[in-house]
Amino acid sequence: MKTYNYDVLVIGAGPGGSSAARFAARKGLKVLLIEKRPDIGSPVRCGEGISKNWLPEVEIEPQKLWIANEVEGARIYPPDEKTFIKLSAAKAGNEVGYIIERDKFDKYLAALAAREGAEIWVKSPAISLIKDKDGKVIGAKVRKMGEIVEVMAKIIIGADGFESQVGRWAKINTMVKDRDIVSCIEYRMVGIDLNKDFTDFYLGSCAPGGYVWVFPKGKDEANVGIGVALNKLKNPGEVKKYLDDFIEKHPGLKKGQIINLITGAVSTCQMPQSIVTDNVMLVGDSARLIDPITGGGISNACISGKIAAEAAYESIKSGNSSKEFLKEHYEKKVREKFERKNLRNWFAKEKLSMLSDETLNKLVDAISEVELTSISVKSLLDAVQKKYPELVKEFEDLL
Ligand SMILES: Cc1cc2nc3c(=O)[nH]c(=O)nc-3n(C[C@H](O)[C@H](O)[C@H](O)COP(=O)(O)OP(=O)(O)OC[C@H]3O[C@@H](n4cnc5c(N)ncnc54)[C@H](O)[C@@H]3O)c2cc1C
Repeated sequence: MKTYNYDVLVIGAGPGGSSAARFAARKGLKVLLIEKRPDIGSPVRCGEGISKNWLPEVEIEPQKLWIANEVEGARIYPPDEKTFIKLSAAKAGNEVGYIIERDKFDKYLAALAAREGAEIWVKSPAISLIKDKDGKVIGAKVRKMGEIVEVMAKIIIGADGFESQVGRWAKINTMVKDRDIVSCIEYRMVGIDLNKDFTDFYLGSCAPGGYVWVFPKGKDEANVGIGVALNKLKNPGEVKKYLDDFIEKHPGLKKGQIINLITGAVSTCQMPQSIVTDNVMLVGDSARLIDPITGGGISNACISGKIAAEAAYESIKSGNSSKEFLKEHYEKKVREKFERKNLRNWFAKEKLSMLSDETLNKLVDAISEVELTSISVKSLLDAVQKKYPELVKEFEDLL
């Protein structure tokens, strides 16, 4: 069996992995980025919405190549759809700003990694981790274009997405409960009525524990998707029925045609107890860094990838890749960056998923009438207090 040696092995060439590989290579490390699929970024499994504010942090220049549409903001509809909350892109969160061509975006990020000197193997899944006699991970077996090879590395970065095996193989517990998994299905639809300047979100019993989204890609074309919490589904097929029912009730969507269908899942959980072990760090979805309220995870994947690359450099420079070192130099920084917001949004998600349609109608009605200067739980509650004071009791614990 052929054996290869690297400083850093990154498993998975999604946004998290490519970002990690790019910044590790820039530091002069010998980096290998492996991807199980033959075509990085394809097939797309994404709503393709991203906000803009985080792009400078990971040095991504917006490119015509991967921007399908730029939106002004988001509209959030309650179940009766009588009104909506309008949010500017700056306030709307992780998924509002650009609607991207995700396959081109992922390839673009991988190309940035390559240009910094990372080596990339496509059609090369990691099939297991290699451990030393003490059980520490020291590499991975990889099916490189069909041939099984060994890749040894000082640091292994697991960037293998929601279904991550690297975490499990390395005995990092990133298990997610059913109530914190949202099952998704999405159609690319053409010939529909839409306002291409806004991403639309629909809340309530149309999508229990989740929402319906319409993310416009062009003047009559959009990603129309739904996420439903797994614990609210009687069977996995039911999620399609929810989406079909929604489309049926909306003539502007019903008149269109479906040209693509994707399925997938996102985690909407709090951060796991740990996202590192000796020689191993997890980034992006494999570290459960998705925003629990929006289900968006591209930005957090890229940012965590960059932090992991910096930690890999520090670790290799100091000759210390122990769990404790990686906790201090990677996990702690990731927690500082994401944990508070993630926890707050997890609570808000839990709360939202328990509200009746009637309460949601009142909530949105109250909020839609005020000019929101910031999206804080307090500012939202102040708005509700003015119109439906009896509702505020239900939300006080969020404060
Ligand atoms: C239906 C749906 C809609 C979504 N919409 C949005 C959205 O609009 N905006 C947003 O921000 N987020 C969205 N997300 C979430 C977003 O897609 C993820 O958060 C993001 O892709 C995380 O990036 P990542 O690099 O961590 O993982 P991924 O993008 O999942 O990349 C993991 C990569 O690892 C590869 N891989 C897996 N196993 C192996 C292996 N053993 N060996 C080698 N390679 C492997 C995979 O093929 C994949 O390329 C959506 C998710 C779903 C399911």
